[in-house]
Amino acid sequence: MLKGIAASQGIAIAKVYKLEPPVLHIERQTANPQEELTKLDQAFQKTVKDIEKIKEVASKHLAEEELAIFDAHLMMANDPELRGQIEAMINNESVNADYAADSVAKQMVAMFESMDNDYFRERAADVKDVTYRLNCNIAGVEIPNLSTLEEPVVIVARDLTPSDTGSLNKEFAKGFATEIGGRTSHSAIMARSLEIPAIVGCKGILDTVHSGDTLILDAINGEIIVNPTNEEIETYTKKKEAFEKEKEALKALKDQPSVSKDGHQVELVGNIGSYSDVQSVLENGGEGVGLFRTEFLYMQSENDFPDEETQFEAYKQVLEGMKGKKVVIRTLDIGGDKKLNYYTFDEEMNPFLGVRAVRFCLMKPDIFRTQLRALLRASAYGPLAIMFPMIATLAEFRKAKDIYNEERENLIKEGVTIGDNVEVGIMIEIPAAAVLADRLAREVDFFSIGTNDLIQYSMAADRMSEPVSYLYQPLNPSILRLIKMAIDGAHAHGKWCGMCGEMAGDEMAVPILLGLGLDEFSMSATSILRARKLVTELNYEEMKALANEAINLDTMEEVEELIKKKIN
Ligand code: PEP
Ligand code: MG
Repeated sequence: MLKGIAASQGIAIAKVYKLEPPVLHIERQTANPQEELTKLDQAFQKTVKDIEKIKEVASKHLAEEELAIFDAHLMMANDPELRGQIEAMINNESVNADYAADSVAKQMVAMFESMDNDYFRERAADVKDVTYRLNCNIAGVEIPNLSTLEEPVVIVARDLTPSDTGSLNKEFAKGFATEIGGRTSHSAIMARSLEIPAIVGCKGILDTVHSGDTLILDAINGEIIVNPTNEEIETYTKKKEAFEKEKEALKALKDQPSVSKDGHQVELVGNIGSYSDVQSVLENGGEGVGLFRTEFLYMQSENDFPDEETQFEAYKQVLEGMKGKKVVIRTLDIGGDKKLNYYTFDEEMNPFLGVRAVRFCLMKPDIFRTQLRALLRASAYGPLAIMFPMIATLAEFRKAKDIYNEERENLIKEGVTIGDNVEVGIMIEIPAAAVLADRLAREVDFFSIGTNDLIQYSMAADRMSEPVSYLYQPLNPSILRLIKMAIDGAHAHGKWCGMCGEMAGDEMAVPILLGLGLDEFSMSATSILRARKLVTELNYEEMKALANEAINLDTMEEVEELIKKKIN
């Protein structure tokens, strides 16, 4: 069995079609510039025609937004700058056209790949795609065209270019597997838009499979079975049918509100780590972002804390990407198990109980101020809520809020536009904060319960320690009572309460959380539609009674049993 990253969910069973694009052997040669310029001109003309043709085929099955990529390719193929650079090299160095085109392309690709921005790095794939086509046309070799497939296949390739995915005919292309790529690579994004099962980053697949082999592509678990037995085919055919049936049912809920049978509405939103997760939240019907973990921005930065401009761009991109839906951004939560390359934390006996999250920020106000300024500037681009992690006392919140207010005033004095309605809240992930929720709620705009930490701190059980992992008990009545305190505390002062720990997407916990009155459930994007289905099947009044019964039980096991009994 081969393993890779499930980039677009589904199961496909079909024969392998190995896509092997021609390998070009490009060498520097002395040549007659006039002849090479003519060759180049003809190759550019054919490249433009090819792309127009691909766009025409793609327009039959891709949406307007996705077709834009081919307009970008056409612009590149018609770009006087690109062409000018190649022509100049031919003229100045009397080299062959393919060598000149290849050299210029490599420089452009290197430039895009070195950019500190996912979007631009992905653009390198477009440059490669267009200039590879140009070079094939100079050499007079044809690129295999996936629009001419005539039987159902699973495509296996090193990678698929945008032109390849654009030419895919869904009737015959049942799925694909690539040797390289990640969840945000071009081919992965296209596969999700086309809703074709896909596994990317599957190392070794090109050496293992041959055209004509039969393949089971399990793009739910990221597994590939080559030449399966009849029993395996039967098992996976059933799985495939069940998956497709469920997918259809869930899809119908994508743009529906999350309302219980008796009309109680909640919000189901997504947790993200960067802009690259935004699309998935939207595709899965997320009503917003309930937790943007900004520490990844700091962990990816190589030499120093990311500057205001870098952070501003990152937050703005997410806010714009969410198209007017609310985004809750958490300020830096570093320390504990999360370290930085460029900063050495003091040794502590218990790092999870030490200088972490808002404690670190309050001790390093300059770093905190930079982030708050970037956040406030980004707030002009969409509804933003900011939350401080690991608040234990009111004094900590007040300190953090004062710094926030100072930076807000500074920006206003500087004439910078900021959003009108930025909410400022806290995470409830320390038991002391849950217990004091009714007081904290007077001063904050909202709570978001971080159950991953709330449980570790309540049970005094390190969340990284396997032997004590049995104490991760979201359904223990003690935890449910703390959650109830947080929700009731917020509601007593007209504030909303969300949850962004793993528990919010746990199907056993959702009924109880609904009954406790949780307003917002933030979870990984792929759990949203399932949670929505569950909410729409539940009755809020009944869940209130269920939650009340649960908090009066003795053990987690009893709560689990109660839920199983009441929810079938
Ligand atoms: C939590 O503690 O539940 C939470 C959402 O934060 P993190 O997992 O990032 O600590
Ligand atoms: Mg936490």
